Amino acid sequence: MDKSNTASVKAFPIRQPASGIRQVEISRGVVIGSKRLVVIAGPCSIESEEQFFDTADAVIQCGAAALRGGVFKPRTSPYSFQGLGCEGLGIIKHAKKRYDVPIVSELLDVRYLDDMCRVVDMIQVGSRNMYNYPLLKELGKVNKPVLLKRGFMATLEEFVGAAHYILSNGNNNVVLCERGIRSFDSATRFCLDLSSVPVLKEMTGLPVVVDPSHATGVSRYVEPMAMAAVAAGADGVMVEVHRNPSQALSDGHQSLNFAEFRRLCSRLRGIANAVGRRL
Ligand code: PEP
Ligand code: MN
Repeated sequence: MDKSNTASVKAFPIRQPASGIRQVEISRGVVIGSKRLVVIAGPCSIESEEQFFDTADAVIQCGAAALRGGVFKPRTSPYSFQGLGCEGLGIIKHAKKRYDVPIVSELLDVRYLDDMCRVVDMIQVGSRNMYNYPLLKELGKVNKPVLLKRGFMATLEEFVGAAHYILSNGNNNVVLCERGIRSFDSATRFCLDLSSVPVLKEMTGLPVVVDPSHATGVSRYVEPMAMAAVAAGADGVMVEVHRNPSQALSDGHQSLNFAEFRRLCSRLRGIANAVGRRL
């Protein structure tokens, strides 16, 4: 029998179990994959400088180690808010002078790669771009850590394959992000696959971050799933926070307000301690 087309052919190098989890430094001493649980928080979209700074002040005060904020937004409808684009990059630039924490933002289009690299500390590849191999190859050639989100229809093998498009082009600073997959159930926006946390670590040795905001799509489910993620061994969590979620230009339903985020951080501290980590 010709076995060349069978799934048993190993497509990717298997890591050595003894090698442990890779530590990826985002910048400014913030490392993902260490004993410190890294909380990345901020708005889905940067809407204005004032909105981003307000949120940054609040989340850093609660214990966030890094900020998030989208300026290029991959929206389902082309008529929805698409992000501030290059104006938003200008806001991130100002934020970098004001705050001593790394900033993560999503790159949608390879044409903005250089602009992004000049401004952000970590480049996010969104779920919809996980299969964008030309984009991943270019990210393999830059000296910038990448937060690679799982495609919402991707198997773990496909997810790992996408990571290898970056790794094999020379960039070892890859962090995987589980953000939920599509299921038959509509009670939550996606289905948070927490088994991916130990499986991905075993398959790749890369650190894994969990995004309970996009996974659930409902703000009241974010806290329990964030806690479960940390208990399952996630090296970090990424959470959307808005000063007034009902007014958010994107993903308001799943965004925590400042008080909810404060409570989440205090509860995460307890879980982190229980599993030998700290916030
Ligand atoms: C986001 O992080 O704002 C985002 C669009 O996430 P995802 O790509 O996981 O949908
Ligand atoms: Mn979002």
